[in-house]
Amino acid sequence: MAKGTINVSVENIFPLIKKFLYSDHEIFLRELISNATDASLKLKHLAKLGETKATVEDLKIEVKVDKKGKKLHVIDRGVGMTKEEVEKYINEVAFSGAEEFLAKYKDTAKDAGIIGHFGLGFYSSFMVADKVEILTKSHIEGEDAMHWSCDGSPEFTLEKTDKKKDVGTEIILHIAKDSTEFLEDHRISELLLKYNKFMPIPIKFGTREETLPLPEDADKDAKPEKITVDNIINNPTPAWTKQPSDLKDEDYKSFYRELYPMQFEEPLFNIHLNVDYPFNLTGILYFPKLTTNIDVKKDRIQLYQNQVFITDNVEGIVPDFLQMLRGVIDSPDIPLNVSRSYLQADGAVKKIATYITKKVADKLQSLFKNNREEFEKKWNDIKIVIEYGMLTDEKFYEKAQKFALFPTVDDKYFTFDELKEKVKDLQTDKDNNIVLLYASDAKEQHSYIEEAKNKGYEVLLLDSPIVSHLIQKFEGDNAELSADKKPVKFARVDSDFIDNLIKKDEEQISKLSDDEKNKLKEIIEEVVPKETYTVQLEALDSNSNPFVITVPEFMRRMKEMSQTGGGGFMGMSNFPEMYNLVVNTNNDLMQKILKAKGKKEEYINQALDLARLSQNLLKGEELTKFIKRSFELMK
Ligand code: ADP
Ligand code: MG
Repeated sequence: MAKGTINVSVENIFPLIKKFLYSDHEIFLRELISNATDASLKLKHLAKLGETKATVEDLKIEVKVDKKGKKLHVIDRGVGMTKEEVEKYINEVAFSGAEEFLAKYKDTAKDAGIIGHFGLGFYSSFMVADKVEILTKSHIEGEDAMHWSCDGSPEFTLEKTDKKKDVGTEIILHIAKDSTEFLEDHRISELLLKYNKFMPIPIKFGTREETLPLPEDADKDAKPEKITVDNIINNPTPAWTKQPSDLKDEDYKSFYRELYPMQFEEPLFNIHLNVDYPFNLTGILYFPKLTTNIDVKKDRIQLYQNQVFITDNVEGIVPDFLQMLRGVIDSPDIPLNVSRSYLQADGAVKKIATYITKKVADKLQSLFKNNREEFEKKWNDIKIVIEYGMLTDEKFYEKAQKFALFPTVDDKYFTFDELKEKVKDLQTDKDNNIVLLYASDAKEQHSYIEEAKNKGYEVLLLDSPIVSHLIQKFEGDNAELSADKKPVKFARVDSDFIDNLIKKDEEQISKLSDDEKNKLKEIIEEVVPKETYTVQLEALDSNSNPFVITVPEFMRRMKEMSQTGGGGFMGMSNFPEMYNLVVNTNNDLMQKILKAKGKKEEYINQALDLARLSQNLLKGEELTKFIKRSFELMK
């Protein structure tokens, strides 16, 4: 048996880096600017410790495009490198000076915000360049400036240079033929705004003109003076890096506009995240106004690590139901060099998701407690997130019991407990269930809502697409009868005739004999289509409508649940439309139908069509027929 070590030589590594290391070539710029930022932050840190004489005033990073020379320059005034450091950190692939710095200064540098980690970032420049040069001068006094050059083959040159006078590093990329897009100003500017917009050291890209304001005593035909200033592309101290106590409401709003320049709608409120144990995380989340046609792919939560933009795909990190929110989270502790499925199983990441959920719940709870009126006003715009969260996250569900609201068609808002308390006397049925009535559309279900209100019942307005799942869950959790608790049932107002929705013990008196009832049922069934309607005779108030169409609660709910994706109900959405036709045997029309010679069919069709009309079911040719028939009957 032969044994040995696999030899990973640089010859093998270069093409690998070029092809596979990063699928996105554009990230080379993010990596170079991260290194330049690290070098600047390190110098600042050393200055604080009194370990350097180099100047740290006004540190800046500059990006320059030399289109003619086909070169891209990234220049910093950071720590620079000695000859030995170039040999160690640059020539040895996968050796990170960032890691070493953190290890050496571990007591003080934790909060310095150093980005580097794996010692591979620098080599990503070979994805777009066929030759890379480094000019560098260490901040350590007496060290020579060095020039390193490499054309992508494993051979490099390293020599003293007198081209570099100031402390810091200049990286020069000779852009390859297949990557000339990175010689375009607009492309570089786009990348800087995408990845570096909130990095901690100012980044200069070209210059721009600024008009100075005129002094107050200026001549009336004086021209305002124009000056050329550095074009700084980033905001080095974005709101999330500050303390909540230093920020006003307006600061949060203006940061929102900075994050999403194309969003014109203001956010409803924000949540400032800030923890340093057991993991590091800062950020600001915003609740946007959620409309049903929200584009979830656009303007998503952005993930940063030490102020470097990483991605706006936070799947696996932020719980699903909170991905409708906007804002930023910044955490150096999220392992991103792993697959998404691994991410979801990672302990630290799970804790992050739990923390975010808790913060959101706490914020909602305090908004509800401190200003209920405002909270009620916002309810419609935020309910989707809360309802979705209650369905998918048991902990959130528990917390949300305190602030989840049930609005009525009359614009009253109850919590679940308040609601039960309010309706328990009138809306308890003969089997001791509390029956909560709801409508999904106040206009379409108007006549049913009126019937319920006439009895003094409260009618909720529950109109989100996932509401059938949610009430199913509520019923399940409140199914048991105990000394201080009654089971809770939900019923949509049009799912049965009102007296059947909340059944009381009262005996109903019928005007028809059993014989007459049988005959009536027979006649009606001959006329109405059997596949669609189940005829159901009821002795109701004689003033109530003769025919009422209802959709059984169970059928409708299962169907809705299968449409919005619920386990176990697949295929239900293909079920044919089925309705109950409730016939009020006490309405005078029934006598007419029984006694009429001709016309029987006309009466039945007319009453059926009127019932369909109030359920918004009468359309097209059938509506035309109905109108014709109505005119005929008037003659
Ligand atoms: P990482 O940043 O993960 O440590 P890189 O491959 O990006 O890995 O860089 C390797 C090392 O090279 C850095 O840790 C740092 O020590 C050194 N280095 C790279 N760029 C610069 C720079 N602009 N100034 C000073 N040192 C640098
Ligand atoms: Mg790096």
